[in-house]
Amino acid sequence: MTPIRAVKGMNDVLPDEVARWQAFEAAFRRSMHLASFSEVRTPLVEPTRLFVRAIGDTTDVVEKEMYSFTKHDEELTLRPEGTAGAVRAYVEHGVNNQEPVSRWYYLGAMFRAERPQRGRYRQFYQAGAEIIGDPGPACDAEMIDLLVSLLNDLKIPGISVHINTIGGSGTRQRYRDAVVQALAPKKAALSEDSQRRLETNPLRILDSKDPRDVEACTSVPPITDVLAPEDTAHFDTLKKHLDALGTPYHVDPKLVRGLDYYTRTLFEIKGAKEKLGAGDTLVGGGRYDGMLKDLGGPEAPAIGFAAGIERLLIASEHLGETKRTRAPVFIAPLGEAATRAGLVLARTLRAAGIATEMDGRGASLKAQLRRANAQNAAFALVLGDGELESKTVQVKSLAAHEQQNVPEGDVVAFLKARLGAANEAAGGAA
Ligand code: AMP
Repeated sequence: MTPIRAVKGMNDVLPDEVARWQAFEAAFRRSMHLASFSEVRTPLVEPTRLFVRAIGDTTDVVEKEMYSFTKHDEELTLRPEGTAGAVRAYVEHGVNNQEPVSRWYYLGAMFRAERPQRGRYRQFYQAGAEIIGDPGPACDAEMIDLLVSLLNDLKIPGISVHINTIGGSGTRQRYRDAVVQALAPKKAALSEDSQRRLETNPLRILDSKDPRDVEACTSVPPITDVLAPEDTAHFDTLKKHLDALGTPYHVDPKLVRGLDYYTRTLFEIKGAKEKLGAGDTLVGGGRYDGMLKDLGGPEAPAIGFAAGIERLLIASEHLGETKRTRAPVFIAPLGEAATRAGLVLARTLRAAGIATEMDGRGASLKAQLRRANAQNAAFALVLGDGELESKTVQVKSLAAHEQQNVPEGDVVAFLKARLGAANEAAGGAA
């Protein structure tokens, strides 16, 4: 039979690569915990109408990219992003009655049926966070600055922060009208997609990379022309906060982002252009002050971001050297009775906190030691008939090419002392 392959755009992460993922996750969790965010875990599958409602039914994600199916008469969808599920959970559990401000983060798989390319997949992973209950703009600046610090720690070259505001819902409607007014006379010159968007979701035309749309959009007035005074004040204060933090940014009046739920602050962080090419947006985020109410919850302002983990891993120059860790102790039993004793010994060592692997293949001593060396084990514990009889274990130090027989009852203490000393010499923790 021809081997079965993974679904296009959905990738395996093999153990040697997982080390880099874990290093990223540890760095992300650390930066989130230092800023008092707590982890939330929500289902991978949600009712389809949650995403239609939250993200907007004329967005690319909802129109074209969702993995939806029906099961037991329920319309379900694999989550294409994390915010809608987090907000659903917040509302469902009445979290607003427990605390005025919630700071949540998440890590996990998202699904979008996009055209796969470098940095764009159908199953991909996001690290994201939400602050619910704080109208900003201080927390907007804090969030952007936290991300810049994280990306700097990950040594991502060429980071740039792009910000914009699209005002509150009233402003959005006014800007929509202004965009339609500017583009309607040029409808025939727009791309086919954008001709359709002119009816359904005109703001999305500003996001288009099609040269025909880019040309037509030069006549669209900047959003600043239609902002309400409160929106302008919010944006000006955000900029002052970022200035005070010394976090550089570009104001990009054409930044609208693909999901409909945004209000006021929008931001994107790009970087590592040489490695990522056109798909160099690492993080996207913004305020979504209307979503909680829209989903049947309380009126509460909120802001969030999502970073693409695959893109961060491609971009990072810091997470490169991580290797998977292998057990430092390798048990090599000779014969069936020794294998049984080896199983017991492995359990004893693990219970004492010593990572141990046992070779259960029934292979020759030579083959087992070759494997122990290849895996960089520090010690091989050889168990043969002689050792079983004398209730000892032959401990071979693979680096020092030394060996000695250690009484069974002393093996834990013996290895702990040696492994501890080796760790100290290497400057590492146990
Ligand atoms: P969004 O949820 O569309 O605002 O995207 C936020 C971030 O998630 C982007 O900046 C990317 O880093 C990442 N991302 C979005 N879609 C994909 C995808 N199909 N494959 C890989 N990463 C993605």
